[in-house]
Amino acid sequence: MTWQEYSKLLAKKGLEEKDRNFLEAVFELASYVHEGETRATGEPYITHPISVSLKIADLKLDIASIAAGLLHDAVEKNPNVLKTIRQKFGNEIAFLVDAVTKVDRVSAKGVKRALESVRKMFLAVAQDIRVVMIKLMDRLHNMETLDALAKDKRERIAEETLSLYAPLAERLGMWNIKGELEDLAFKHLWPREYAEMLEAVKNHAPERERLIRKIANVIESELKREKIKIKEISFRVKHLYSSWLKLEKYDNNWLLLSDLIALRIILEDVKDCYSTLGIIHKLWKPVPSRFKDYIALPKPNGYQSLHTSVFTENNYIVEFQIRTEEMHREAENGIAAHWAYSEFGKPKKGFSAIGKKFNWINQLANWHKEFEHEHASTEDLLEALKIDFFKDRIFVLTPKGDVIDLPKGATPLDFAYHIHSEIGNRAFGAKADGRLVSFSRELRSGEVVEITTQKNKKPSREWLHIVKTSLAKNRIRRALRITDKDSFLAIQEKPVSTSVYARNRVGLIKDISGVFASLHINIQTLTANRSGNDEAPILITFIPKQKSDVAKIENRLKKIRDVTKINSKIKS
Ligand code: MN
Repeated sequence: MTWQEYSKLLAKKGLEEKDRNFLEAVFELASYVHEGETRATGEPYITHPISVSLKIADLKLDIASIAAGLLHDAVEKNPNVLKTIRQKFGNEIAFLVDAVTKVDRVSAKGVKRALESVRKMFLAVAQDIRVVMIKLMDRLHNMETLDALAKDKRERIAEETLSLYAPLAERLGMWNIKGELEDLAFKHLWPREYAEMLEAVKNHAPERERLIRKIANVIESELKREKIKIKEISFRVKHLYSSWLKLEKYDNNWLLLSDLIALRIILEDVKDCYSTLGIIHKLWKPVPSRFKDYIALPKPNGYQSLHTSVFTENNYIVEFQIRTEEMHREAENGIAAHWAYSEFGKPKKGFSAIGKKFNWINQLANWHKEFEHEHASTEDLLEALKIDFFKDRIFVLTPKGDVIDLPKGATPLDFAYHIHSEIGNRAFGAKADGRLVSFSRELRSGEVVEITTQKNKKPSREWLHIVKTSLAKNRIRRALRITDKDSFLAIQEKPVSTSVYARNRVGLIKDISGVFASLHINIQTLTANRSGNDEAPILITFIPKQKSDVAKIENRLKKIRDVTKINSKIKS
């Protein structure tokens, strides 16, 4: 890419001419340093720093950050360049480049390496948050171009992305980045599940999209009538990885994934947000437990929005997210949004501008100042941080020395399924640090875990109660479904439609839905088109979790006052 092409892209992103002029010399130095170097993809190396710097510009960070993005790998290539950078472009850019370079330098191996990376990342956050944002953009671009690497390397990088970079982005409120990092890691760690999700979304999304489009039109004309100005109305399919995790929780029932596509309305001010909420609730009936006022009560990381889900036509549930432009910017880019208001070229120093929303960063900075000259150990640091970042995680090792990050309480079976479903399915015994342990024994950080397998071994149903991760549960369920075709799992996806005949009265619907709620079964659709006609039944469709659920539901429905007849059939 030539300077002219690059400059044009920067201009499109809103950079002024004087800032672009400053960046020309930076661009030239970076091109010079990486001259003749190529990436694993075969492209000239400079394409990487250029892409990283453009991502930084998208975040609307300052000029120093964009410059540091262009030069972030230059010192790695040639250590003498740092001096040149300081002389030509000043201390600030040199500091950023140096700091980004140092975050990468981790000499330890295995668990120590993982902890060391975490420690360095936190220190970088404390030192200057821009360093971490540059690192995040660096990682994002590396993940986007990961295909060129060998499988084990891809998996190691993807694993680290999922356990360190994505949670860090989340902590910084950078939801978009978090979602992108997770989806890319998902693709490389669990390619089969990723492909399945992609296919399933393709199958489910169009129908839902049609409906959402229709709903969007209704709300648009209604807000126009009420003279409420819409800044933006949009919808998009949620990220695959987070949908996949949710889907596992819902036993793979796609219909329960009602927020797969959310409708987002951006308005001028908070008052309009609440007015719009009122209008939505007047048009459609809200799902009671799904309304969240994150404007009055923001999430700990500062996220603000009104969330509500409503029953629309055919009782389809649609989720709305209502917010102002400022809330939206922050929801998308988190902490980076606070730089959007500062002028280019005038970086904000320190953390005073960030305010209470990212209080943990303030704490971290203060803590760092206090202990700056003491060489506290990694464990001490993590202990002292007292933020729950990795509180609930453990790091264990494979016999080869790869680090596997699992939730606290994870067992050897979780470990086995995490490595590969076949290792889980054929697991026969487990060793931790060379000693035999039971499948249900909790793993501890630092342990080397080894799984012995046996051909023809099959997973046991009991394992579902032992494992802690949803990944393991899902893989066990899948294996059971294949080996045990007559099990309830085989009918799991067939919806049942039940007709309830009853005299119309106040509270009848509530009593009926109460039956389903008490059995933790979600109603897929509920049609009560009665208009005074007591002859027409109330039609409910649902997906039973096991065969016996249908009889249980019928029995309980029969006990409701005024119900005269029940009739169920399995839909095909
Ligand atoms: Mn890089």
